[in-house]
Amino acid sequence: MFDLPSFDAHEGVHVFHDDKTGLRAVIAIHSTALGPAAGGCRMWDYVDSQAMVRDALRLSQGMSYKNAMADLPLGGGKSVIWGNAKTDKSPDLFRAFGRAVESLSGNYWTAEDVGLTPQDLEYAREETRYVAGLTSGAAASGDPSPVTAEGAYRGIRAALLADTGSDELEGRSIAVQGVGHVGANIVRKLRREGATVYIADIAADAVSDLANETGAIPVGVDEILFREVDVVSPNALGGVLNSDTIAKLNCRIVAGAANNQLFAPEMGDELAARSILYAPDYVINGGGIINVAAEISGNYDEDWVECKLSSLIDTLRDVFERSKSEGRATHRIADEIARSRIAAARR
Ligand code: NAD
Repeated sequence: MFDLPSFDAHEGVHVFHDDKTGLRAVIAIHSTALGPAAGGCRMWDYVDSQAMVRDALRLSQGMSYKNAMADLPLGGGKSVIWGNAKTDKSPDLFRAFGRAVESLSGNYWTAEDVGLTPQDLEYAREETRYVAGLTSGAAASGDPSPVTAEGAYRGIRAALLADTGSDELEGRSIAVQGVGHVGANIVRKLRREGATVYIADIAADAVSDLANETGAIPVGVDEILFREVDVVSPNALGGVLNSDTIAKLNCRIVAGAANNQLFAPEMGDELAARSILYAPDYVINGGGIINVAAEISGNYDEDWVECKLSSLIDTLRDVFERSKSEGRATHRIADEIARSRIAAARR
């Protein structure tokens, strides 16, 4: 494990097993330099335990960077539960997971990620207070998607400003891949400002409903990334930017909320080589974790969320400016800023 690239000086990697419920979980804590580690819990049917550990490390390192870029008093961590989210869940499994979180005495806060529901977290909450993203309770912040969408929308405008000198949306065209919780809200905001918006989703009903509501133009899922537009906005899956797709892009900017858009870090360099401005995903989609951080603070405050969101967009603008002046890809600059913020806090 120490030799894996994503080990990256993790402070701790905790392995849990509960005989009674069958829980097999890993909680990885990359860094607590900026505050308690925070990051969601993913339930996935991994092929083996190595894959499970690798995923936990990669995601936990990513949360450190995301939280640092959002200037939150939070470090980075993530948990993974090995199992099929459709068939292996039980209330007791999540209570056992809650006890695992509790055993770390607040060094790690969990929340929802792929495979988990708010109800699963409610069971974990019975055993530990270190659970965020709840839908009930005094400090509950509810669904973070609207804040994520607002951040991504402002990020798209910041990218347009950096690339073209104007963030005016009238007369611009944007292709939005995925119109779920985040994507649909981005589309509404863009349409309100007069942009031409193309949309695609494997859920046909979601596309037709949103097209009727907003006047966005439906296109096929296989063509959305390759439309001739100003901005491509990925809001569905990770890994959509690979050598094949990058070669076929017909846009000047890629800016969307999907996590892990780059299939590999070098893909960010390929985008830069094609002079396509890339908004690093873990910066532009930081609105959701800002919302969760407000809940962790114990006192959800909308003004604080707004303040953090606007400073996140300032950081994104810095990334664009430095990328231009230093002639280096945006994802490299963002990684560097995140690492230096964490290192400064460590010192
Ligand atoms: P969601 O599940 O509500 O929406 C995702 C949408 O993508 C769904 O409608 C799905 O049908 C569609 N989709 C899946 N495969 C597709 C494909 N091949 N082509 C087109 N559409 C496809 O999820 P969400 O909460 O809207 O999140 C979207 C992305 O943003 C995810 O990558 C997520 O990890 C990331 N993200 C979300 C938040 C948040 O606050 N929800 C925060 C940070 C990052």
